[in-house]
Amino acid sequence: MSAFTLELTPAHHELVRRAHAFAEDVIRPAAPKYDAAEECPWEIVDKAAQEGFYSPLFYADLIADPTGLSLPLFLEEIFWGCAGIGLTVVLPALALSALNQAGTPEQLARWAPEMFGEPGDIKLAALAVSEPQGGSDVANLQTRARKDGDSWVLDGEKIWIGNGGIADVTIVNAVVDPELGTKGQAMFVVPKDTPGMEHVRRLRKLGHRASHTAELKFENCRIPADQLLGGEDKLEHKLEKARRGEGKPAALGTFEQTRPMVAAMALGVARAAFEYACAYARDREAFGGPIIANQGVSFPLADLAADIDAARLLTWRASWMAANGVPFQVGEGSMSKLKASEVAVRAAEQAVQTCGGWGYVDDLPVEKWYRDAKLYTIFEGTSEIQRMVIGRTLSDLDSTAEPVHHRLPGDKRGLSRKFGHGSLVRARAGEVFMKLATKAPEPVLRLGGKLASPGA
Ligand SMILES: Cc1cc2nc3c(=O)[nH]c(=O)nc-3n(C[C@H](O)[C@H](O)[C@H](O)COP(=O)(O)OP(=O)(O)OC[C@H]3O[C@@H](n4cnc5c(N)ncnc54)[C@H](O)[C@@H]3O)c2cc1C
Repeated sequence: MSAFTLELTPAHHELVRRAHAFAEDVIRPAAPKYDAAEECPWEIVDKAAQEGFYSPLFYADLIADPTGLSLPLFLEEIFWGCAGIGLTVVLPALALSALNQAGTPEQLARWAPEMFGEPGDIKLAALAVSEPQGGSDVANLQTRARKDGDSWVLDGEKIWIGNGGIADVTIVNAVVDPELGTKGQAMFVVPKDTPGMEHVRRLRKLGHRASHTAELKFENCRIPADQLLGGEDKLEHKLEKARRGEGKPAALGTFEQTRPMVAAMALGVARAAFEYACAYARDREAFGGPIIANQGVSFPLADLAADIDAARLLTWRASWMAANGVPFQVGEGSMSKLKASEVAVRAAEQAVQTCGGWGYVDDLPVEKWYRDAKLYTIFEGTSEIQRMVIGRTLSDLDSTAEPVHHRLPGDKRGLSRKFGHGSLVRARAGEVFMKLATKAPEPVLRLGGKLASPGA
């Protein structure tokens, strides 16, 4: 297992530099246009592909980083540029995560390239879980999948689906056994133009307007049997387990993995708004001085500085846990999403407040960040649902609720265990030294003091 570290490698620094340059030079200048037009930014997605930022292998590479940091580092920079464009660029990765978790290696090899395409021939992907009657209560999904000969037939409605109807590949979550709740669900690959999948309408949104969001309908939508993710034997095995009261729901594993990703996106928006507010507060003058000289302006920004860093640390920890297969026992993934999304909303709101009247009009980008930020407390599980996930672990008698650094074995090396900082051996040696010190002559005492001072 790779140890958790805040020390970035040269490759991390290079990734951040390239992603930030792309966000600053390509995404930010295009953001107002796509936000106003509410159009899918095809051209920018193509440029991302040219930069190597839009392919299944790129994401596989980021996910394979044992430090867990590559993915959140990349996402924060891209979403710093524009959340709507960022979401369009990243949505196929969310669908890929579902494909990767539920599908067979053959299905991964077959469909992953179809989700991204290549420069000059861009493709999109979507993950369709939510339904009009409710997105939080995933046990209550109504879309049904029934086996009919060599096919599966889907019927139902999906809503708020990012890239819905324009995606080349849609991963659809549907109920195969209504008696089993979330464990009676499966995921299916539905390619574009499959008869029976209808793009009902594009939804007009408060923010993230460059990202296409839609309502979909499935009516007698017939797909070949091999487009059931994981295959039939695995599904039967899973359903059998569920009937015995064991097993995991189909979509929930995906959410666990993607929540730190969404947290990193929220951090990008939070940082953009925070940086802008600080710069504005330094430049803007009122009552004969810069407004940042007033604690009424600087204190909320100081709180944000601390809270954004706290949320980033939670996000990096959750990402590191996911990369190293450390199970989320007390909702660590949810903690990261909860804190990062809520700080994004506060940062954007504070940026509008700091910019006063200018913050309320679209001459400045902060009103857009204010609109964009709110999504993070809603999608991939609302803030209430994150609290529910964390809260359940606290009421679960089997859960130790201990922080992760208590649960993990840590450094097993004998020497550092025995002689490391704070060890009993060091404490005893310190006591002996203190006793000797009272009897030692002045120069020896001074030297000893220097050696014993913190950092020596
Ligand atoms: C722009 C956008 C993009 C999206 N993209 C996708 C996508 O690509 N794919 C996809 O599948 N979905 C997507 N979603 C859907 C999103 O995940 C859902 O909107 C979300 O899960 C909430 O579901 P809901 O809107 O039905 O709210 P509801 O479940 O109806 O909840 C309404 C309110 O009640 C609260 N609530 C519900 N249950 C409880 C409870 N037990 N305790 C306390 N409070 C509770 C919720 O927190 C919320 O505040 C997207 C949504 C938006 C807005």
